[in-house]
Amino acid sequence: MSGGDGVIMVAGAGPAGLMLAAELTLAGAEVMVVDALPERSPYCRGFTLNARSLELLDRRGIAGRFLAEGPTVPSSMFADPARPLDLTVMDSDHPYVLGIAQTRVEELLEEWLAELGVKVSWGHAVTDLEQDAGGVEVTVERTDGVGGAGGSLRRARVAYLVGCDGSRSLVRKRAGIAFPGTPATTFGVLADVELADPAALPFGMTKGERGTVFVIPRPGYVRIVLNEPEPPADRDEPVTLASFERLLAEQLGRPVELREPRWLTRFGDAARLAERYVAGRVALAGDAAHIHPPTGAVGVNVALADAVNLGWKLAATALGRAPEGLLHSYHEERHAAGERLLSTIGAQAALGGHDPGLAPVRDLFAQLVDRVPGVGKYLAELATGVSTRYDPKIPGEHPWLGRLVPDLELTLDGRRTSVAELLRRARPLLLRLGERPLPAAAGGWVDTCDARCPGRPELEGLLIRPDGHAAWVSTTSEPQPDSTLATALATWFGASCGPVRQEGRFETG
Ligand SMILES: Cc1cc2nc3c(=O)[nH]c(=O)nc-3n(C[C@H](O)[C@H](O)[C@H](O)COP(=O)(O)OP(=O)(O)OC[C@H]3O[C@@H](n4cnc5c(N)ncnc54)[C@H](O)[C@@H]3O)c2cc1C
Repeated sequence: MSGGDGVIMVAGAGPAGLMLAAELTLAGAEVMVVDALPERSPYCRGFTLNARSLELLDRRGIAGRFLAEGPTVPSSMFADPARPLDLTVMDSDHPYVLGIAQTRVEELLEEWLAELGVKVSWGHAVTDLEQDAGGVEVTVERTDGVGGAGGSLRRARVAYLVGCDGSRSLVRKRAGIAFPGTPATTFGVLADVELADPAALPFGMTKGERGTVFVIPRPGYVRIVLNEPEPPADRDEPVTLASFERLLAEQLGRPVELREPRWLTRFGDAARLAERYVAGRVALAGDAAHIHPPTGAVGVNVALADAVNLGWKLAATALGRAPEGLLHSYHEERHAAGERLLSTIGAQAALGGHDPGLAPVRDLFAQLVDRVPGVGKYLAELATGVSTRYDPKIPGEHPWLGRLVPDLELTLDGRRTSVAELLRRARPLLLRLGERPLPAAAGGWVDTCDARCPGRPELEGLLIRPDGHAAWVSTTSEPQPDSTLATALATWFGASCGPVRQEGRFETG
């Protein structure tokens, strides 16, 4: 286990850790990824990637790999499975949800990371850390038996450590980051099993005598999900096939025979948010930073969004080219996104729950979605993160400012390209698009590119962060002064305005 003064260690090779490691590598940082498990877990928690994830993966040129793996569905549940939200109304390049196993998402990300030259060190658990002004001393234990007794503990000194180590994050605890929120009060159990008689239980939702049963078809098996009527005495007590069958029979009022159990587990509705996403040289992403009930099926997606926000900022900080406060903006932006996430999921869980007192609210809510234009779009974009807007820290009214720039078609040097294609290098991008002569970016690492956007001729210029969000937008109807471009360049990239346009050049900072 060798670290290094400039190395960033990522603890955990789930969706957050894999995506983050790839983003850091693209941005030029030296990365090592460790995971406590000897190999990837075969148990699959999630089955979906949403619009925002596909948009982000598109901006790295790899969305196609994921889209090739499963069906896309143009609707998704918000709270009531009988009233799915229409996703086609979203302002998104991918207005649908992709059905894909989380385990497959992780495999594809790990393959991509390997192509970038980084291999995951499986069987390495972070067990302790100590940070000082110059770095982090990390203790790592071999959990795969290699090294033998006494030889399995190693120390590595790294520049930064990121805890992508899931909901029970050791990194979060050892860094002393509080995790306030609400503990689990209700629990669900799930079973990945086969039905002895496939006709015994239909797919979808079945309302039984004492509860509601969800059956999700999977290739060769089904996932059955139930609520436990009482909190378990010991939440870590294993769920067995017999105990699951008993609960299922109680809720349906009839027995259903199950066989070939693949995975039986329990999950709770705890909702917590890390008080700080960055503490000195330690940062958190994914479930390590936030937990919530699985309602809404967004955990993987939020983990990817955290990683894409953090990657370029942390790499710039480690490489010594970040302006003051850049890393802290990860906390500001994603902690706020986490607060919105918890409040949205809280609403979804309440509306989708069994409280009869909420029946009139459910009714009213359904009327609002059905009858008031724009409500469905608002909810769909909120639940998928598509409407996420980060404070651009400059004045301006353009609706894209702070948001993910759409994948505009562009022409560059006589060939067709797009915003997503130009962002594959994960570098900041200044697009000079109109007739007005704009300065280039100077003194930083920002690419300046002269292109045309035939579909949006009013665009004069766009400054785009590596995560795809607009840091500056100027149009012919609302031209922004060069001084605000200079502020945006300095705020996000420590760069400044250089020479005014020299046509047809793609200049790298
Ligand atoms: C029942 C259920 C269904 C779900 N369905 C969906 C869904 O449909 N869609 C969706 O988007 N999300 C879903 N989720 C949520 C989703 O699974 C998580 O939000 C997601 O896995 C979080 O990714 P992560 O990378 O942050 O953490 P994890 O995926 O938990 O990865 C953490 C990694 O860190 C490793 N690790 C732990 N401790 C250490 C350590 N000390 N040192 C080194 N490595 C360590 C672990 O081995 C693991 O590989 C579901 C969750 C549950 C429980």
